[in-house]
Amino acid sequence: MTNPLERLVRVLARLPGIGRRTAERIAMRLAYRADDLLSELTSAMGEVKEKVGLCSLCGAVTTVDVNPCSLCVDNRRDQSVLCVVEDPGDVTALELAGGFTGRYHVLMGKISPMSGKGPWDLRLKELVERIDREQCRELVLALNTNTESDATVAFIRDLLKGRQVKITRLALGLPVGSGVSYSDPVTLERAMRGRQAV
Ligand SMILES: [Zn+2]
Repeated sequence: MTNPLERLVRVLARLPGIGRRTAERIAMRLAYRADDLLSELTSAMGEVKEKVGLCSLCGAVTTVDVNPCSLCVDNRRDQSVLCVVEDPGDVTALELAGGFTGRYHVLMGKISPMSGKGPWDLRLKELVERIDREQCRELVLALNTNTESDATVAFIRDLLKGRQVKITRLALGLPVGSGVSYSDPVTLERAMRGRQAV
């Protein structure tokens, strides 16, 4: 059986941005310091597991008792503009940046043959349904800058051929290979404002 501390280190090292060395330091900090951090962390994680989920309409993070999420039901937001992102965290990053007043649609990833993810593993059927139902006139693709995201953009463009919807993409300026949620708010706001037709 794996020793409990080693098990914790291995789990922590699977988190984004945390390598083995950092995972060891965090595990030690939690295990040996006589304060409430470990129990607070355990309780906070339990609460997230119980109460946090994804919006059934847009796919952004929400609490299970607020579904559809507050962004989806906010009447002040422009229903005719839909911003498509890869991950729920991208919605949070774009909201923090400000400047976008439409609604969101999370794809839950991108087309990625390497990881066996085809177009229909994404929330594309839901996207098309929303475009038709909500009479969307602009689709802003706020996808990351790498070849897989470019393939996703091309697929969406083909998928929507014949529909009266303008497709735009965030202005170049996001560093190549970077993700929306890793970009700073100022860069994101500028990229949103300068979005261009694709
Ligand atoms: Zn929502």
